[in-house]
Amino acid sequence: MLERLQELHDEAVTRTAQAETLKELQEVRVAYLGKKGPITEVMKSMGRLSTEERPVVGQKANEVRESVQALIEEKEKTLEEAQVLEQLKQESIDVSLPGRPVSKGSRHPLTSVVERIEDVFIGMGFQVAEGPEVETDYYNFESLNLPKHHPARDMQDTFFITPDLLLRTQTSPVQTRTMEKHEGRGPVKIVCPGKVYRRDEDDATHSHQFMQIEGLVVDEGIRMSDLKGIFEAFVKSYFGEDRDIRLRPSFFPFTEPSAELDISCAMCGGRGCRTCKGSGWIEVLGAGMVHPNVLEMGGFDPEKYSGFAFGMGVERFAMLKYGIDDIRHFYTNDTRFLEQFARE
Ligand SMILES: [Zn+2]
Repeated sequence: MLERLQELHDEAVTRTAQAETLKELQEVRVAYLGKKGPITEVMKSMGRLSTEERPVVGQKANEVRESVQALIEEKEKTLEEAQVLEQLKQESIDVSLPGRPVSKGSRHPLTSVVERIEDVFIGMGFQVAEGPEVETDYYNFESLNLPKHHPARDMQDTFFITPDLLLRTQTSPVQTRTMEKHEGRGPVKIVCPGKVYRRDEDDATHSHQFMQIEGLVVDEGIRMSDLKGIFEAFVKSYFGEDRDIRLRPSFFPFTEPSAELDISCAMCGGRGCRTCKGSGWIEVLGAGMVHPNVLEMGGFDPEKYSGFAFGMGVERFAMLKYGIDDIRHFYTNDTRFLEQFARE
């Protein structure tokens, strides 16, 4: 009987070693350790043995049983690990799969317009200057020939933070700040783009926040014809060679004389239509020769230096260029609107 047990043990060892899957291993387990398996059979038949033989065979049977059990468990672990590794191998990333589309943002149309306008002026030797959006009353108004209680201040309803601090209503304070930096020596040749704020009711053409680009040229011997020449070059470069310009007299406290610049209407070629309200011309910006007071407050000698300044609304330029009918489109973050400028 002891020999039979040893045989069974050896058989089980061999079959366990041969098992290649968990299913096969389970079969070995059932075959040797199951209730109807040969080891159990041997144990059941022990009643027939003598009292001397019984404990010896019993001990051997238990040893075989435990040994086979341990072997099977060990093999089970090995097979399970192999299975996990195999699974990982099959689940590895297939780099040849097409990727998921990434939604790509684009430049805001106002940013594009500012950059294009800047490019034109940089090409004519201008530098880009920037300044703070929270300004003092001095830089926003007084240094631009708008003393306290000047009636022209009413043209720009202002967000005041304190009686002396405000959200700038124009980018002109950058002009004064730049002139101060030059300490009375020319030439100054800058454009200053940026956000400005006015207490407007928002509608199709007004917004409490919008963008401006202003420009300033100060040097010896600057004349109105220089202003006109720069604009002609700018308008043709930005809007197209076929556009004409004209200057109309106007009033601004910081320039003297002052002018409005019109460009010929692209819709009708100057013959008159609904877009230009029948005049053939569209107003695009305000300009003029820098007022001597403004030069002086910026530290320049108005006897020696002269200059011109201009200011334009970026939204208006974008609306004119792309035929946009409502200024609020720029701020409502509607991607259907913004995506149209993705290729600009
Ligand atoms: Zn027209």
